[in-house]
Amino acid sequence: MFERGTVPSGTSSAAPARQRLVVVGSGIAGLYAALLAADAGADTVLLTKGRLDESNTWYAQGGISAVLQDPAPGDTVAAHIADTLRAGAGHCDEVAVRLMCTEARLDIEGLRRFGVRFDMGNGGGPALGLEAAHSAPRILHAGGDATGARVAEALIRAVLAAQGEGKLRVLTRAYATALLKDGGRVTGVGYLQDGRTAGIEADAVLLATGGAGQLFAQTTNPGVATADGLALAVRAGAATADLEFFQFHPTCMVDTAADRSAAPAGPLLISEAVRGEGAILVDAGGRRFMRAYHPDAELAPRDVVSRSIALHLAKLGDPNGHVYLDARVIEEARGEGFLEGRFPTLTRKTREAGIDWTANLSRWRRRPTTGWAASPPTTPPAPASPGSTPPAKSPAPVSTAQTGWPATRSSKDSSSAAALLRTSSPRPTALLGRRLPALLRGLSRPLPASP
Ligand SMILES: Cc1cc2nc3c(=O)[nH]c(=O)nc-3n(C[C@H](O)[C@H](O)[C@H](O)COP(=O)(O)OP(=O)(O)OC[C@H]3O[C@@H](n4cnc5c(N)ncnc54)[C@H](O)[C@@H]3O)c2cc1C
Repeated sequence: MFERGTVPSGTSSAAPARQRLVVVGSGIAGLYAALLAADAGADTVLLTKGRLDESNTWYAQGGISAVLQDPAPGDTVAAHIADTLRAGAGHCDEVAVRLMCTEARLDIEGLRRFGVRFDMGNGGGPALGLEAAHSAPRILHAGGDATGARVAEALIRAVLAAQGEGKLRVLTRAYATALLKDGGRVTGVGYLQDGRTAGIEADAVLLATGGAGQLFAQTTNPGVATADGLALAVRAGAATADLEFFQFHPTCMVDTAADRSAAPAGPLLISEAVRGEGAILVDAGGRRFMRAYHPDAELAPRDVVSRSIALHLAKLGDPNGHVYLDARVIEEARGEGFLEGRFPTLTRKTREAGIDWTANLSRWRRRPTTGWAASPPTTPPAPASPGSTPPAKSPAPVSTAQTGWPATRSSKDSSSAAALLRTSSPRPTALLGRRLPALLRGLSRPLPASP
């Protein structure tokens, strides 16, 4: 009942059959690996549970870090490695870090070869953004803040072209449900497609099934991020490691939609690149607080910023409160229209959520996995000291809903001034068992000493 490995046409029956690789997942990892494998002559099958474009990858905004042949002045691969190890605070697999930082430029070239076009800077080379924990600008982006969608579009085009040339096969709506085994060896993938079970034999299986954001009640991940690959691997007897490592993006737009019909599908992550361009975090009193927690302030590593928000709110006696992102300072420094040009998608989405981030503060909540969320503030933040944060003009409309999006519009002249961040207790589902709540409690531990 399972398909057999194929012998390429034009080869004699004595010729060895091509090795078959089944790739599960159509995010950047699966698409790119399938293209590379097909190029290398493997009999490649790409299997994904939804459409090809249903992935976390599609939502990635800020970009990909790499030190290129022609880097920002003074930047080196060694600096990239050092930054990564420092941000990892002793948890990194150093061999992996060295490999990824060293080979990043090769993979950027690989992505380009498959049609990915990164945004270009004024100097003729790629535009390089700055993000937290990086000591130099080295983030390549595409479509401003639509990097994931642009990367995925190009790779999907390349995959479909390769399929057209008979170099690989694509199975969509094919939900991997089991790794087939013969003794201790994985021999294929069982899957469900259009209500029917099927299976495909393979010499090797690559699980590129993405993350587990949907294990959390609040996440910026799409519905497909349900940790399937991890479950498949565990059931097949694979050893797992580092399951406690989940990304808590410091900032998710607080969703307080009064009118849910106007609310977008999920919480909005605002790329760290926005802080990289100069946006600052302020509390409900208008005080910029990150400098008290880490010398890199808003550009400290994400876990540090997440914990700092939580600690700061706890210190203020408002553990379920919010903090605000002030992106207005970017336009003040870079000129009117900069935010729209650099972050077109976020400008549109925040506008749809009722926030003009060139003029308003928006409210933010720390989210499990990648994400930010914002809403009009419930109370206008008043600056603590002149110059720290421009004064609020008038309160934006209030909504207390925890999920959904703000439906009310704020204008430059009528709303308070910045975006509000909030810390909330993530509610992990049972799948990760008892370890995760313990980990989450760990978020309130003191921050490590500043480097
Ligand atoms: C809002 C947001 C912003 C982000 N911004 C950035 C950023 O700026 N920079 C950055 O580096 N990262 C960013 N990330 C993270 C980045 O998107 C992911 O790390 C990356 O895309 C993961 O790629 P992947 O190919 O491993 O997984 P995914 O892109 O999640 O792909 C997984 C694939 O597996 C498929 N799949 C899952 N289970 C099964 C199954 N049982 N059977 C068949 N198929 C299955 C899914 O349908 C999907 O196609 C962001 C993430 C989000 C959500």
